Amino acid sequence: MSLLTRDTRQCAVCSTTTTQTVVTLRPILESYDLDGRPYEASLLALPYWVQCCGGCKYCARDIRQAGDNLAAICKTAAYLAILNDASFPYMARQYRAAAHIATLYHNHAEAGWHSIRATWKCEDMQHPLARICRNDTLTHYVNAYQQGQRFGQHNAEECLIIADLYRRNSDMHHANEYAERALQGSSNDATYLQAIHHLQAMIRTSTTTRQPRPLH
Ligand SMILES: [Zn+2]
Repeated sequence: MSLLTRDTRQCAVCSTTTTQTVVTLRPILESYDLDGRPYEASLLALPYWVQCCGGCKYCARDIRQAGDNLAAICKTAAYLAILNDASFPYMARQYRAAAHIATLYHNHAEAGWHSIRATWKCEDMQHPLARICRNDTLTHYVNAYQQGQRFGQHNAEECLIIADLYRRNSDMHHANEYAERALQGSSNDATYLQAIHHLQAMIRTSTTTRQPRPLH
């Protein structure tokens, strides 16, 4: 179970101090989905992996962290359009806004980290725009992969996550391509081989539902 605490956070952009719920401990993941989605109990932390300043609406993993031109970015029409897009669930909007900022800083791994959480939120609500969030995640993670920005423990895990996201979006051609890359990078690690073979079996049958990793 994630440990949640309340703490004050001063925004790096506008200096507004707000009370935020903070995730202070990542639990041991006994079981999780092929795209990295954590065990159900850990998803209690999902609302708190993004912080939003009550003053300037800066959204980030930690609003105490500053960046160049952030004050201007948070006032742009593009940023506010994402944050105020009522077609997405409220929490997903904050993750999408944080992903937008990360993208502007060319931090594709961080953008993917936020986008996949927007995806999980939409999935939980069976929201039709989960597919859009998954597409965004794929864009960010493929960019991160190609530029050597780490978002998984190693290459095989990153390819496995990308392959599973493609599978969920019914793109079996690219799912298969990245499953093969995962296989080549797995170094015959039994844990990953089992997960990759499980994924490949679902690709062959065009299964697009959420799938947990096989227990080992
Ligand atoms: Zn602020």
